[in-house]
Order: sequence, then C-alpha cells, then structure tokens
Amino acid sequence: MEFNKARKIIGIRVLSDNVIWIWENNNSAVVIDPALSQPVIDYLKGNNLNLEAILQTHHHLDHIGGTVELIKEWPNVKVIASVKEKDRIPFQNLSVKEGDTLHLLDEEVQVLEVMGHTISHIAFYIHSKVPVLFIGDTLFSAGCGRIFEGTYKQMYDSLKKIKSLPKNTLIYCAHEYTKSNLLWALDLEPENQNIKNKLIEVEKKIALKELTIPCLLEEEMKINLFLKADNLKGFSYLRANKDLWV
Ligand SMILES: [Zn+2]
Repeated sequence: MEFNKARKIIGIRVLSDNVIWIWENNNSAVVIDPALSQPVIDYLKGNNLNLEAILQTHHHLDHIGGTVELIKEWPNVKVIASVKEKDRIPFQNLSVKEGDTLHLLDEEVQVLEVMGHTISHIAFYIHSKVPVLFIGDTLFSAGCGRIFEGTYKQMYDSLKKIKSLPKNTLIYCAHEYTKSNLLWALDLEPENQNIKNKLIEVEKKIALKELTIPCLLEEEMKINLFLKADNLKGFSYLRANKDLWV
C-alpha cells in the first residue's frame, strides 16, 4: 500500500506484478485499471467507499478483467475509456479522447492520448500542485511499455508528452517491473551511479514488501534510459534491446 501526501492513493498488488490504484476522497473512490474485482470490492467495502468511477487506460485483460464484476456491485459507476475502444472495452459508459477534462473527487483530470503500447492507450493526469499521472502500461519506473500495436514513433512521442509535464509529477504505472528494468539499464550503463543508487533503494523496498511505485518524473529523467533518449533512433535501439533482454 502506498500513499501520497496530497491525496490518498493506495496500490493493491495482484496477479504476478500488476498494481491496481485506488484514489479516494471522503467516501468516494476512483479505481484505475482493475485487473481483478475481489481485492477492490474488499477494500472499498471494508472502508465504506462508494465507487464513483473506473478509469481504463487500455483494453488488456490485466487492466479490465475486474470491471464487469465491479459494475454489478456499483451499477451507477462511470466507466471511463477511450472512445476508440468501444469494441474492446464495450462496457464503457463515458467515452473520452485527448484533451477532455473530467471532474472526479473534486479535482480536474485531463485525458492524454499516449499511443504505442496499443493504438489507443490513454493516461489520466490530475493537474494540481502535486500532479499525478495514471499512465497504465506506457511508462514504468526505469522502463516503458512494449510496443504491441503502435509504432516506435508513437511511443517516442508519448514519452515526450510525459517529459513535458511538471517535474514533480507522481507517475502511477500499472506494473511492478522496477527491479528488472534497473538491472537491464545497468547492463547497458554499468557505471551509472543514479541507477545503482536506485537499485539499492528498490531492493530495500522489495525486502520490506513495499511497492517501488509511484515514481517521480524528475527522478525518472535521471534513471529511465527511455526518457533519456533524445532521438527516435536512440529510443528504438533501446526498445528493441529491451525486448530481447532476459
Ligand atoms: Zn497492457
């Protein structure tokens, strides 16, 4: 479970490495990418929270697998997903696109399209003094998503969009891949002290059974080789290298 000071956001680890984020305020909650329903139901009911909305970053089963059961428990819940994914996320009831603004839990949430992992992946950005980005499978701590449907150029542009956000943005990604991403990065840059230090910090957290995410954009700019790539060719090389790394 992880908290941030400005607002309460907790992470529930499920499946092998997914993290479901629950953002709560007063007696309401918003769930991001529920891979499973039961851990979410248990948490919300145990804390007397009404489920106001489900945010879906993309259509993969380990992001939408719990949604139908959650709708049965909370029939009035808003299910917010890309307008381009009406076929693959058919239970959406509030379809959004790049640039839309939502009002959730007394805050403004902007929709960003971040293609690459899929052709219609979106992210949700809470624009405030302590900005938050729910990024799904586009960026991970020290890594980025695999390019399943989109192009290298789309993913590179998506990362540029993330880099343009305020440096104090907290990034909530959907998988706990940090340690293996850091080991890969150290294979490529064995002398990189920032990455070495981060690995030590991450291993301590893992030993304590803590999540290693969310991550801070400012720190990612130092340790995430994909964010550090400053041209498409360099980015593409890294992505192809990581796909083959074991
Ligand atoms: Zn995915």
